[in-house]
Amino acid sequence: MAVVMDGAAVRDEIVASVRETIEGLGITVCLATVLVGDDRPSQIYVRNKHKMAEAAGMVSRHVQLDATISQADLEAEVAALADDPGVHGILVQLPLPGNLDAERVLDLVPPDKDVDGLTEASMGRLVRDRRGLVPCTPLGVVRLLQRYRVPTEGRRAVVVGRSSLVGLPLSLLLARRGIDATVTLAHSRSQDLAGICRDADIIIAAAGQAKMITAEFVSPGAAVIDVGISRTEAGIVGDVDFEGVEPIAGWITPMPGGTGPMTIACLLENTLTAAQIQRER
Ligand code: NDP
Repeated sequence: MAVVMDGAAVRDEIVASVRETIEGLGITVCLATVLVGDDRPSQIYVRNKHKMAEAAGMVSRHVQLDATISQADLEAEVAALADDPGVHGILVQLPLPGNLDAERVLDLVPPDKDVDGLTEASMGRLVRDRRGLVPCTPLGVVRLLQRYRVPTEGRRAVVVGRSSLVGLPLSLLLARRGIDATVTLAHSRSQDLAGICRDADIIIAAAGQAKMITAEFVSPGAAVIDVGISRTEAGIVGDVDFEGVEPIAGWITPMPGGTGPMTIACLLENTLTAAQIQRER
C-alpha cells in the first residue's frame, strides 16, 4: 500500500509558512493578476489564486480587461505592472482570447516578477542554474517529493511529457544539484514507455492521457506523481490508474488533491521569492 501524498495538506503547510515569513519580516507582498475576457474556468482559477494569496498574508491586485482589448492596450497594462514597485508578482492568466499574442505579453513581465516562471528569461535562468522563478507545477512536484522524503539522489526519474510548461522544466529541476536524480524525459514517440517506467524509482506523468500509467508501468515501491488532467465522461481523471497502481507503488498522488493544490502553493512561494529577490536588488 502506497503512502498517499496529500497535496492539499502540503499546500496548507506552505501557505502557513509563507504567511509566517511575511509577518516575521513585516513586509508587504503583492500579487497582481491580469485576466482578459470572461472565460468561466479562468475566472475561477484567478479567484482561487486571490483567496490563497490572502490566506498567505499577501495583498492582491486584479486587472480585469475586456476580451476586445487591443494588443497594444494589453501590453500597456502589463508594462504598468512591470514598472510598479508595489507589485512583486505578475500573473497573466492564459490562454488569452482571440488573436492576442501571449508571447509578446509575457515578454513584458520582468523575470524577477515572473511568478509563473514561464517567460524566456526565467527559462534561461533555470537552464543556466541561476537564481530565479521556476514554473509552479514542476516546483510543486519537487516540493511534494521533498515533503514526503522520497529519495531522489542518484535515483532514476522518468518524466512523461516534454512541454515547456511542465515536463521540460521539471526534468531540469530534478537533475539539479541538490535533487540529483538521473532523469529520462519521455514523450509520445518514446518506445517501450512501460519498460522505461518500470526501470524508474520515480514516475511523473504529465501527458494528459487518462489513466495511461497502469500497474504494468510501475515497479514495487516506486513514487508515482500524477500531473495530468483529462476531462472524461466519468469526470476529471489523471494520467495514473490510481486503483491499479496504488497497491504496488511506494508513494502516489491522489487526483484531485495531489499536484493541483501544490501548483497554487508554489505560485505563492514564488511570489514571496519574487519580493525577496526585488528587496535584495
Ligand atoms: P501538453 O499537451 O503541452 O504536453 C503533453 C506532453 O505529453 C507532450 O510532450 C506529449 O508528447 C506527451 N504525450 C502525449 N501523449 C503521450 C503518450 N501516449 N505517451 C507519452 N507521452 C505522451 O500538456 P502540458 O504539459 O501543458 O500538460 C500536461 C498535463 O498536465 C495536461 O493534462 C494538463 O491539463 C495537466 N496540467 C496539470 C497541472 C496541475 O496543476 N496538476 C498544471 C498544468 C498542466 P509529444 O511532445 O511527443 O507530443
